[in-house]
Amino acid sequence: MVGQRAPLGGEQERVRDEGGADLLDLAERALAAPGWRLAFPAALEAAFERDTSKSRCRRLAISVLIGVFLYDAFILDDLILNFARAGQMMAVQLGVVTPLACVLALFIWREPPKLWRELAGTVVALFASASVAYFTRLVPEPVRLPVMFGMIVTITFANAVLHLRFAYAVASSLGSLAVFVIALRAPPVLAWPIATYTSMLVGAAILLTLLANHRLERELRRVYLLGLRERLLGLGLSETNRQLERLSYHDALTGLPNRRLLAARLAELWDESNDGAGANPAPIGLLIIDIDFFKAYNDFYGHLAGDACLRAVAALLRQHMRAGIDLIARYGGEEFIAVMPGLDLPTCCQIAERIREAVAAARLPHRGRGGDDYLTVSIGVAALSPVAAASPGELIRRADSALYRAKEAGRNRISDAPASLAE
Ligand code: GH3
Ligand code: MG
Ligand code: MG
Repeated sequence: MVGQRAPLGGEQERVRDEGGADLLDLAERALAAPGWRLAFPAALEAAFERDTSKSRCRRLAISVLIGVFLYDAFILDDLILNFARAGQMMAVQLGVVTPLACVLALFIWREPPKLWRELAGTVVALFASASVAYFTRLVPEPVRLPVMFGMIVTITFANAVLHLRFAYAVASSLGSLAVFVIALRAPPVLAWPIATYTSMLVGAAILLTLLANHRLERELRRVYLLGLRERLLGLGLSETNRQLERLSYHDALTGLPNRRLLAARLAELWDESNDGAGANPAPIGLLIIDIDFFKAYNDFYGHLAGDACLRAVAALLRQHMRAGIDLIARYGGEEFIAVMPGLDLPTCCQIAERIREAVAAARLPHRGRGGDDYLTVSIGVAALSPVAAASPGELIRRADSALYRAKEAGRNRISDAPASLAE
């Protein structure tokens, strides 16, 4: 609706709480920072974590389950090979690694803090690697080497599929390397040239997947920064637009709606009453409130005091309006208009009289009128049902001529306009 502030969205509130401008500044600087640096400054990192944590948890948990599924598919090999210690292998797969990974997937799904989430992913990766290392010591000679290559698969899984945050990916890779070396050497299960070759392959897998992991995380963070910057810039723009709109529909001195908003609101009310109520629409009441001898006030007290007086009268008028129903606007100069939907002429007159008395009772000094006097207002009152023959302009005209009569009759009084159009 015209001149009304749109309610702020949750996100806008959130960003503003944390100082939207600062976050924007941090995002700009992070975008310009060297490419190898991943971690953001604390406030930005917190925003990143907050905005991405849910989807990260979902994806990580699902990736763990996919890994578990693949891992357990290798039970088929245990069965096919049918070697002496296959039962032991299956016990580790089904009795230790699988349940542990499933519990951790559930834990991750429930969105724990970043540290616990990434640690849980790291533990899954390390258990997978450790079990593969252990299996190399269980399986018979011809399959030892392929099983050892399983290590490359678990490393790829941790660094590229779970896509652990880089620091955790490094930790998990070093852990996997450690268990791999232990598995190779205590006591040696492969001839040294084969062990060296395999170690180099595992080492290369670690380096390459860590490189991919770093690049992926950098891209992820960059995309986030670009999106965040766009969002914050958009928020700034819409805030500026809102302020501009507010300014263009409100009077700067009193903060009341101005003539423009009044006209729009009145037209809206007119249409609504016409649309909704059929032949007998409810009347719309309107008061024009004009300060008496205000020119003299300015001349006596000065223009600045005149401004303060206008603000005081505006505040007083506001108190007599029904919140969310009536509208009080500054119509221009020292004239105000109150629009009171649904009120007939007698009720409007009662309210006008109450306002007049309240202004007089406020005893705002007005010695400019000659004697030792106080500020007063004159009020023209009109009420019309928005039937086709009438218009908002007609309503204002009637109140204005009533006001003229009140002035003519000596001011500090109210005067009403005839209730029906025919009169
Ligand atoms: P009447 O009782 O017939 O209404 O006389 P009046 O002096 O109040 O009316 P008139 O129209 O002669 O003068 C209105 C004055 O209001 C003239 C103008 O200087 C003053 N005025 C209009 N806008 C402002 C404003 O924003 N600030 C101040 N301080 N004075 C204003
Ligand atoms: Mg006037
Ligand atoms: Mg006046």
